Amino acid sequence: MSIKTRFAPSPTGYLHVGGARTALFSWLHARKHGGRFVLRVEDTDLERSTEASVNAILEGMSWLGLEYDEGPIFQTHRFGRYNEVIDQLLTSGHAYRCNCSRERLETLREGQMQRKEKPRYDGHCRGKTIDPNEPHVIRFRNPVEGVVAFDDMVRGRLAFANSELDDLIIRRSDGAPTYNLTVVVDDWEMGITDVIRGDDHINNTPRQINLLHAIGATPPRYAHVPMILGDDGARLSKRHGAVSVMQYRDDGILPEALLNYLVRLGWSHEDREIFSLDEMVELFDINSVNKAASAFNTEKLLWLNQHYIKSEAPERIARLLSRHMGDLGIDPAPYPPLAEVVVAQRERAHTLVELAEISAFYYRDFEGYDEKAAKKAFKAEALEPLRRVRQKLVDASAWERVMLHDAIAQTVEELGVGFGKVGMPLRLAVTGGAPSPDLDLTLQLIGKEACLRRIDKAIAHIETTRHE
Ligand code: GLU
Repeated sequence: MSIKTRFAPSPTGYLHVGGARTALFSWLHARKHGGRFVLRVEDTDLERSTEASVNAILEGMSWLGLEYDEGPIFQTHRFGRYNEVIDQLLTSGHAYRCNCSRERLETLREGQMQRKEKPRYDGHCRGKTIDPNEPHVIRFRNPVEGVVAFDDMVRGRLAFANSELDDLIIRRSDGAPTYNLTVVVDDWEMGITDVIRGDDHINNTPRQINLLHAIGATPPRYAHVPMILGDDGARLSKRHGAVSVMQYRDDGILPEALLNYLVRLGWSHEDREIFSLDEMVELFDINSVNKAASAFNTEKLLWLNQHYIKSEAPERIARLLSRHMGDLGIDPAPYPPLAEVVVAQRERAHTLVELAEISAFYYRDFEGYDEKAAKKAFKAEALEPLRRVRQKLVDASAWERVMLHDAIAQTVEELGVGFGKVGMPLRLAVTGGAPSPDLDLTLQLIGKEACLRRIDKAIAHIETTRHE
């Protein structure tokens, strides 16, 4: 039987890191086995579900490149079908109407809490015949005896006593089906063979298996993946910084870096850290996902991100970078070619935001100089080297690296000084102090006009401020 997995987010917020990892694991498991991957939007909670959240989830999936073979399927479009199944369960005796008042349920709960028992419904309405026209909910008649056991692909064998489970509500008094019922109907009718989800759902699984048996379906295989913790050991939350996938994009993280990072949260292969998407598909194995929670480590994500910034095709990085240049108000279109700037600068940045910031000087004049560097490089003694090198640059036969290199070398030679005496003030004059590559390349990329303008500005600056 071919494998079919699904990612089933509730659209009550953005696509967060935990959800993205669940989606990635489900996607990888399907792709690895040549199976299918379904996106199902569990939007039955009408009060908390929003269209903005649906869009954020779709945007996140598409940014990560986790394409789905079916969907998005919206549960709100399937209420009719859920109600049919609920009616069948009523007819077959697997479900019953319950009209217990809120007060009764409250008293029951308080008593159980006092006796230190697990709060659960006591089956009061199991044997009653209740008029369908009076207000009621519908409960599933959970088996009273026996054990529900399953082999979780991550956790191993798990067993729950039915006496621990109660008769859960499958249709609310307003007629809306509840989560456990809708999931069961969908997993069954969509032919889901492998359910991979967060382990916060582990207690729902025995209930869902009982429901599946009641509707005559074979339960899928399950894999419950552990949660993600922040680097302080607490459950990952906004407090730990970005948790929304799209926030990572805005912060200059590459999708391949985030995917590579996410796959390693709970899964490993030998001692490897770097996995392309193809390698993940080939090597990923849901059975070797760790049981223990994994901790988020921002440093590692940044390290991976730098790896991909350095190793991906510069044209692709340039395409992604241009939006961050735009955020700085820079149009990188005219000159120099952004891909060349990427090659010149990529060793020096961990994110695209950083890369944009340290590359701004290629495109626009800066305000002021790095203070520490200016103290060192902009002394009165820098005036002569700057004037001289400026003239050589003006005279250069072409604005090419070799000629620019020669202009600097000749200045150094004529003045009989060390390279730094020319190189330091010149670099500061044209970059303002931003990290930059070899000086001749830096000059070439900035362009003749801007270089000369900036040297003039530096000369004027030294004349008026004079760091002695
Ligand atoms: N909609 C559920 C959630 O977002 C997931 C349900 C499932 O995977 O079974 O937590």
